[in-house]
Amino acid sequence: MSLIENIIRPEVRALAAYHVPDASGFVKLDAMENPFGLPAHLREQLGRRLADVALNRYPVPSYAKLKAGIIETFGVPAGFDVVLGNGSDELISIVSIACAKPGAKVLAPVPGFVMYEMSAKFAGLEFVGVPLKQDFSLDKETMLAAIAQHRPAITYLAYPNNPTGNLFNADDMVAVMQAVGDTGIVIVDEAYQPFAEQTFMGRLPEFPNMAVMRTVSKLGLAGIRLGYMSAAPELLAEFDKVRPPYNINVLTEATAEFLLEHAAVLDEQATQLRAERAKLASALEALPGVEVFPSAANFLLIRVTKTGCDGGELFNRLLERRVLIKNVGKMHTLLENCLRVTVGASDENKSFLTAFAAALAA
Ligand SMILES: *Cc1c(COP(=O)(O)O)cnc(C)c1O
Repeated sequence: MSLIENIIRPEVRALAAYHVPDASGFVKLDAMENPFGLPAHLREQLGRRLADVALNRYPVPSYAKLKAGIIETFGVPAGFDVVLGNGSDELISIVSIACAKPGAKVLAPVPGFVMYEMSAKFAGLEFVGVPLKQDFSLDKETMLAAIAQHRPAITYLAYPNNPTGNLFNADDMVAVMQAVGDTGIVIVDEAYQPFAEQTFMGRLPEFPNMAVMRTVSKLGLAGIRLGYMSAAPELLAEFDKVRPPYNINVLTEATAEFLLEHAAVLDEQATQLRAERAKLASALEALPGVEVFPSAANFLLIRVTKTGCDGGELFNRLLERRVLIKNVGKMHTLLENCLRVTVGASDENKSFLTAFAAALAA
């Protein structure tokens, strides 16, 4: 046996590393980033603010001011606190670790966000994927049957879902929470909330087994790595024990505090992206054979089967034209010939559309 085999768990060895392609020189529409950046005057003010940060000191691990700002700005209900993560990826990891009793399971609709399964495996939890319906709506009966069979400790519902972009029916989600009852937690992942304008946050008092998770990544701050999660205080306190005490670094903390004072700028950018999403969707729908799925996120899922082209081939032809989107066709059988494109700034969307039309014709 080699050293690796001696020490590394087989499920870790079997995993492929999360692959992030190099995008330099590309129109980058693969990762749901906000294309805009901050206006010059805010960048200057932020620079001065960051210059005053005490880099020699550990962060104060209560993060009281930042949390209070998040609670106020993002509509966390009275009596509810948040736990902060180094991106919501870390929150997913924290929840997985806290719930990893021997034999515990994680359940989520598939296709869905890959980190639910990855994090479950890292923590030694079994992952159960429940297929969505053909139209990517939640298959309520199958979900309820799977919950009854597996009694998952954690159930994830992304609202809206990634990579499909749609919002699940809210009543179906409530049925899931009721079916899970006090044998598990249901995490509503609202990573795309600024583009969805729908939320379960205000309903936290109704559902003691629900947690609502969000991130500032898709809002325009993917680089600072900050996520937050709210749930009933007793539950949140348990998750907070698993959180590394200094997980939010002082630069992220100061940047987020600054931008909470200027949240209107990010809101305005989200509004612009929602308008761009509508324009991009109709331009794509006008291309013969291209199916565009309804999206409440800052990306569009399209299916190209009826164009007569193969999704993977179109993806490669876009790469040749220096446009990077995401080929999700191999992620799940339901996604055959599907591509996911992030909604960018107007000029980026135009570049994509030009390249896509050329790729279809090639
Ligand atoms: C992007 C995304 C996240 C992760 O966000 P980070 O805060 O950047 O780690 C979580 N959930 C879903 C559904 C996402 O699409």
